[in-house]
Amino acid sequence: MGRAIAIASQKGGVGKTTSTINLGAALAEAGRRVLLIDFDPQGALSVGLGFNPHDMDQTIYNLLTSRDVTVHDVLLKTNVKDLDLIPGNIDLSAAEVQLVNEVAREQILADALKPVLNDYDYVIIDCLPSLGLLTVNALTASQGVIVPLECEFFALRGVALLMDTIEKVQQRLNPELVLEGIVATMYDARTVHSREVLQTVVDAFGDGVLHTVIHRTIKFPETSVAGEPITSYASSSNGADAYRQLARELMAREK
Ligand code: ADP
Ligand code: MG
Repeated sequence: MGRAIAIASQKGGVGKTTSTINLGAALAEAGRRVLLIDFDPQGALSVGLGFNPHDMDQTIYNLLTSRDVTVHDVLLKTNVKDLDLIPGNIDLSAAEVQLVNEVAREQILADALKPVLNDYDYVIIDCLPSLGLLTVNALTASQGVIVPLECEFFALRGVALLMDTIEKVQQRLNPELVLEGIVATMYDARTVHSREVLQTVVDAFGDGVLHTVIHRTIKFPETSVAGEPITSYASSSNGADAYRQLARELMAREK
């Protein structure tokens, strides 16, 4: 059975989408079968993999809201071997309101993904920057959650609220869910400031912080424009190696 991991934070711009693409690609490179889910109406994950989400009529939105759409109808192959995508676009912004009156509204994504869980080793869900019903669906469908934290002032602001949401989902909806860890992103070793923020995060969360630290590099914005993961766009870069290391850290937990 595939392990589903939500990449979550209600903050925008912390590296959720970048981590989804590049962790996914690094896991695929290591021989795992990976499915990525674009669970943000911005569609940045789809764009980052070279798709134009605006001219797609079958997306994660249709899977969530139409009974006659199955997960097989919305699956796409990417240019990376063993890396598949369920795209998302602006349509998804209507789902939050539409699903409110559904029965078991928090479990809709989990149910929809069931038919393909055996086809993948990892399913990685790129969440939108909110703690609303869609993110709760992602957490309910997952066994693990990774929280990217940008090494900037106020990095910890809002993390308590996110941890509280994760705990509520564990207690009420999904006792299987574990915090895989916090991953520090956009770390700049040259600044005292970045080092201080990282230290604060480690002091606050201890073992809850993954060992891999993702440094700040212009290569990441470049890869989004190129529409491919850093592991293929700049295969020998430090950024690619950082996500390979993150992949190894997760694979070391495989039983
Ligand atoms: P989120 O999905 O949380 O909103 P993104 O992954 O889209 O965040 O990242 C926000 C912006 O920061 C993007 O332009 C992305 O290319 C850039 N970025 C992400 N990670 C890094 C990094 N390690 N170094 C430099 N820029 C980064
Ligand atoms: Mg994003």
